[in-house]
Amino acid sequence: MPFADIVGQELAVSCLERSLGRGRIAHAYLFAGPEGVGKEEAALVLAQALNCPAASPAPCGSCSTCRRIEDGLYPDVQRVAPAGNNIKIDQIRTLQQEAYFRPLEGRRKVFIITEAHRMTEEAANSFLRLLEEPPPYALFILLTSQPDSLLPTILSRCQLVPFSPLPPGLIRDKLEGELGLSRERAGLVAALAGGSWERARELASSEEAGSLRHRLLDLVSLLWDGDQAARWLAGEELEKDAELPRILEQLRLWFRDLLVWKLTGQGELLVNQDQLGRLGEMAEDYSTGRLVAALEALGEAQRLLTGSANTRLVLDVLFGKLEPDRPR
Ligand SMILES: [Zn+2]
Repeated sequence: MPFADIVGQELAVSCLERSLGRGRIAHAYLFAGPEGVGKEEAALVLAQALNCPAASPAPCGSCSTCRRIEDGLYPDVQRVAPAGNNIKIDQIRTLQQEAYFRPLEGRRKVFIITEAHRMTEEAANSFLRLLEEPPPYALFILLTSQPDSLLPTILSRCQLVPFSPLPPGLIRDKLEGELGLSRERAGLVAALAGGSWERARELASSEEAGSLRHRLLDLVSLLWDGDQAARWLAGEELEKDAELPRILEQLRLWFRDLLVWKLTGQGELLVNQDQLGRLGEMAEDYSTGRLVAALEALGEAQRLLTGSANTRLVLDVLFGKLEPDRPR
């Protein structure tokens, strides 16, 4: 697979192509960006480029080396992923031992560490020591959706390669072209996927997309022009809703759209492009400052709810901050 197949990540791909072109490969890269936007694929292409005998510097994609790397069968490209919730110290110890053996076949020994932010503290400290004195032939590629959760000392030793959410138009076209969804359903799923192709594929195969969207739009109307009692009832229902994290994520994207629309007036930048009419009207009732505060409040609520906060209380406070400041 060439870099050209990694769609919607021009910045990341050009960073990597430039490093390869100059023959200046770092010892560690941090691929940071949302889940399901191409970080894993890019890591594999980089590993291929560094080991393919015909690399120019792009990998050929078809030799035995390239194919085995793609299939996870190449001895000099290894993956580390969380075992359960975390990457544990034992996994890093094994990695350390492996790292001190020279490559068996290839030029570089590549370690791809998925969800690197899930290292336990012990594991992270142990990994840091390896990064401080990496063997010359070793390359570590850390993948993460939460770069802020990594140790600053690890961050500072990695070259950052930023990955962005995929544009909804691109996801919609892929859903239509690759999965054969109708244009309407593809548009709906793309709007809900939050820029993640992985999430889009999940949604496409479930009934969830329709009902999640309905609940989002109901909630949005309620926040926009519902009364106190209606909001109170909505909080009561949402508190028990297993989909609450997803609904809040959708709500955050909705408020992000409101702000983007207010600042740029460019419909093609919106995640919820199919709701342009409603977004435009709603944006009239919110000031820019109010929308910025709303986004902060949503981020804070999402953070609190991953902990042990009182869900109901968090929702009540949040809803208060999502009301328009020009009441209708
Ligand atoms: Zn090759």
